[in-house]
Amino acid sequence: TSNLADSDVAIKAAIEREFHRQQDGIELIASENIVSKAVMQAQGTELTNKYAEGYAGRRYYGGCEYVDEVETLAIERAKQLFNCEYVNVQPHSGAQANGAVFMALLQPGDTILGMSLDAGGHLTHGARPAQSGKWFNAEQYGVDRETQRIDYAAVEAQAIECQPKLIIAGGSAIPRQIDFARFREIADKVGAYLMVDMAHIAGLIATGQHPSPLPHAHIVTTTTHKTLRGPRGGMILSNDLDLGKKINSAVFPGLQGGPLMHVIASKAVAFGEALQPEFTDYIKQVVKNAAVLAETLVERGCDIVTGGTDTHLMLVDLRPKGLKGNATEESLERAGITCNKNGIPFDPEKPMVTSGIRLGTPAGTSRGFGEEEFRLIGNLIGDVLDGLAANPEDNSAAEARVHEQVKALCARFPLYR
Ligand code: PLP
Repeated sequence: TSNLADSDVAIKAAIEREFHRQQDGIELIASENIVSKAVMQAQGTELTNKYAEGYAGRRYYGGCEYVDEVETLAIERAKQLFNCEYVNVQPHSGAQANGAVFMALLQPGDTILGMSLDAGGHLTHGARPAQSGKWFNAEQYGVDRETQRIDYAAVEAQAIECQPKLIIAGGSAIPRQIDFARFREIADKVGAYLMVDMAHIAGLIATGQHPSPLPHAHIVTTTTHKTLRGPRGGMILSNDLDLGKKINSAVFPGLQGGPLMHVIASKAVAFGEALQPEFTDYIKQVVKNAAVLAETLVERGCDIVTGGTDTHLMLVDLRPKGLKGNATEESLERAGITCNKNGIPFDPEKPMVTSGIRLGTPAGTSRGFGEEEFRLIGNLIGDVLDGLAANPEDNSAAEARVHEQVKALCARFPLYR
């Protein structure tokens, strides 16, 4: 019955410090966002108390009438948002959503074909250390060395060669639009299922700012917490109701137990927000801001993988500055700018070092940054990089100068309070 502030001082204080970290710094991690108060509030409710194994109207527990309402609304809103026939909102995360698809469609040892981690794919798409890489015969495609984009003819040749049962399109560091119709053509040619993991671009797809995979893919998976700006979680969508039945059984009882009903309520709230015209304005701004940030970094002497971006994210190739991803990430962090080191295609450096950083605009745009602010951010990043190139051992002077400007900018765009 007591408040967190009274009952657990240590956790309350850590949460408070995390709030200030978010408030006082510029968040450029491409997979993160800043949810609305309503999305956050739905998660801190009595729904966290409820067991609801099964699906609406067919539960293994009593007392589910109100959580049924919540889950049904989440599903209906997601169907409207993505214009599709089937949705499962129960996956606890994006990795769980992908695992459920594998459970529904594959046997251990089957061949899958996904994008490699170093070209922009995700761990769950067949990377060696992941379950998808250990339990399946995971073949991986990359990007073309010249264009740094997907070479569809090469993917087709590889698919013909390895005869996968499942082809996976999508990833975590793909700055350009993906041609889902072409992927389906390749899948049909070899008799494979096509799964699209739209986790990063779900918000762009929901608002028509990236072509939708749903007319083409057998199954689509996503997270709900990136550009879609919902709570942390996963979701599976399709237009094939028979496949949907298999997916439902794979999520529960195949892979998970009770759904997180407080998170599902929060997903419903986020989908409701995403159906509003303001969300389309937001996503358009995310894309414009990314273009401005990429352009500014090019003016400041960086290379951008593929020369630019069509989406919310970009990969910055630091080699023209003679910098590494790890040292750059750390120096930016000290200046109040958070991002992640990221391998670039055919990166000569090890994964813990890298030649690049990945930057995205969803979180900054949510707090109100527009093109003017992202031009400033691009120049602040340029100042840190130039400082680091000149003084690799100690960039504290440039970091301190930039940090002052970061704090001033953040003070003008408060989060929540
Ligand atoms: N799929 C893609 C393309 C992702 O980028 C991510 C997360 O970064 C995931 C799946 C996994 O999502 P989660 O972290 O919720 O398991």
